Amino acid sequence: MSTVVLDSVTKVYPGGHLAVDRLSLRAEEGELLVLLGPSGCGKSTLLRMIAGLEDITAGDLYLDGRIANDLAPRDRDVAMVFQNGALYPHRTVRGNISFPLEIAKADPAMVKERVVELSRALHIDETLDRRPGTLSGGQRQRVAMGRAIVRQPSLFLMDEPLSNLDAGMRTELRMEISSLVRALGVTTIYVTHDQVEALTLADRIAILNRGILQDVGTPGQIYNDPATAFVAAFLSSQQLNLLSATVRTPQNQYILLDFGLHQITMPWTDPRAYALSQHTGRQIIIGIRPDGLTPIPEGVDGPHFAGRVRALEYHGHEWLAYLEVGIPAVTAPEPAPRAEANGHAVNGNGHAGPSGRVRSMVRRLIAGGEEPVAAEPPPVPGSGTHRRADLVVRLGSRPVWRAGEHGRVAVDLSRLMLFTQQGDRIDPPRR
Ligand code: ADP
Repeated sequence: MSTVVLDSVTKVYPGGHLAVDRLSLRAEEGELLVLLGPSGCGKSTLLRMIAGLEDITAGDLYLDGRIANDLAPRDRDVAMVFQNGALYPHRTVRGNISFPLEIAKADPAMVKERVVELSRALHIDETLDRRPGTLSGGQRQRVAMGRAIVRQPSLFLMDEPLSNLDAGMRTELRMEISSLVRALGVTTIYVTHDQVEALTLADRIAILNRGILQDVGTPGQIYNDPATAFVAAFLSSQQLNLLSATVRTPQNQYILLDFGLHQITMPWTDPRAYALSQHTGRQIIIGIRPDGLTPIPEGVDGPHFAGRVRALEYHGHEWLAYLEVGIPAVTAPEPAPRAEANGHAVNGNGHAGPSGRVRSMVRRLIAGGEEPVAAEPPPVPGSGTHRRADLVVRLGSRPVWRAGEHGRVAVDLSRLMLFTQQGDRIDPPRR
């Protein structure tokens, strides 16, 4: 069993591409930590640096408290499963699973017993004498997992192991991975771009964008209390409503969120009121999930939005409505390159990291001495494309409106997520 500590780890690929930017993270012993983020955000790079398959440009990696930057992959006691769990085609399932133990010259009787035991746990005991070519994708991935687990590594690294499987198989194997790694108690770092996979599997999720760590927490923490607008939007299965509003404090009586055509008041008793008041006169971003809005009839008081129901959408288990409320909508701002202050880098969450030293080290390591560059230049913070918003409202199993009707929705103030124009939380998330 193993702890993994990444201390301000940076990866710059030859040619100057900055794939991971001063990332600090800790995986606890026996924890299932999921690295989540869009394609190209640096998840695999991070995993490969932990495995020793990629050099670390700057920063430190500790495995079980010992510095491991220069440790050879075979000395890290790490097993890895990839998207296409490549198997030896001419060996049987039994031969594939037992291979790492044979190499280690383990006792053949023990090997036999262990392979049978594992194949039962992975539900492939009936296929032990077959070759990989005769197996389904799901079975092949189970064999790959068996081969990785068989020698009882202290750290298990999985890189999108389910992404090539069909939906049913994915769900089944997801549950099995969860119970297997928990039963074994092996520290596991699991890479995926799939929010549902992350939320259902993880003890904690670390979410990345453009090589920058955005948030770390339990699935409940980062879903309900996300550190950035990007995290909130990325974790929404339905479209997250992100709206632009100006903060006002008329005569200091209450806080007014001014959406132009609509206003919502927040009392001073709200625990977020003080933090919000620090933004008086400024535009901010308000996030609200479709289930934080509830249809209400005319005449009901309280914070609400109203407009024409533009469309209804049937999703099988629920209806969604699109309500034209005439409020400017924004897209979640991308993280800006981390600013430097007093020789320290400050990321979107205000956490400081050793910048000057690392930056100059990174600079030296890049051929030609160029500054590392992000994949694409990030947009100006807070400049998300503005349009007149359709509010997405979750109606449940019955469509209470018809298209073209006038609709009103109550706004659950406790469900409002408050972000700066740069997409950072105004009231600090609880962790
Ligand atoms: P993810 O796993 O999140 O999809 P990766 O870690 O594979 O992302 O890649 C992060 C970024 O680094 C991407 O922009 C990718 O194109 C780039 N990258 C990955 N491998 C290399 C490499 N060997 N050389 C140069 N750039 C690379």
